[in-house]
Amino acid sequence: MSFESRRELVRARALSSMSRWYNPWLHLGATMSIGLAVLAVALARLSDVRPLEWLVIPVVFVMANGFEWRVHKDVLHRRRRLLEVIYDRHTPQHHMIYTTADMEVRSTREFRLVMIPAFGVAGAVLVTAPWALLFAKVWSANAGWLLLVTASLYMVSYELFHLAYHLPATNPIGRIGVIRRLREHHAWHHDPRLMQRWNFNVTVPLFDWIHGTIAPKELTDRVGATPLASSDMLKEANAGALEEATGKA
Ligand SMILES: [Zn+2]
Ligand SMILES: [Zn+2]
Repeated sequence: MSFESRRELVRARALSSMSRWYNPWLHLGATMSIGLAVLAVALARLSDVRPLEWLVIPVVFVMANGFEWRVHKDVLHRRRRLLEVIYDRHTPQHHMIYTTADMEVRSTREFRLVMIPAFGVAGAVLVTAPWALLFAKVWSANAGWLLLVTASLYMVSYELFHLAYHLPATNPIGRIGVIRRLREHHAWHHDPRLMQRWNFNVTVPLFDWIHGTIAPKELTDRVGATPLASSDMLKEANAGALEEATGKA
């Protein structure tokens, strides 16, 4: 079976295994509501924020960016015990369905193949809450709320940015300059020959820059000029992950 037919098969299976009650707008709305709810509560609770407390925002942002890079590289692209489901949804499914030259969702139902479930976003907020409480106890309530709201909005932004990259290129959101550039960064990550090594940040590629994992231009030029199906690099670069992906089909 050709690589392209396998891709179609993985897509068809993923779509047919989805609940018929799935509502993409509810999924998107719930994801955004979680961020807005935390923002609303935090804004209501913050008072007389001191300059040092505002610093929590950039510090949490940088830490979240580092966490995004690490989790994407070591959990989403490597099968780990107890976290298999996250890997399976990402490498053999999301990466198989969307490739650099074919990044677009074909229907809104495919939002499910791009975004994590809203309860996952809520779970990330809950996991952050004890840290926010700790900050509130040892420092100040403002610091705790700023930590919680920054981490929550980061998580929601990750989902929205990722979805924006997978919208049709003609979509007005995708045409915004900065989104277009970030989309290109993520699209190269979607080349199966590059996915295990390059462009792990989905939001701002800060930690890709720090770790030197921004795919070099000569590499993307070379890879872009070689058709996926006939490429030896496909086998060479990611033999394990790709075999796992295509073998499942
Ligand atoms: Zn993607
Ligand atoms: Zn990936």
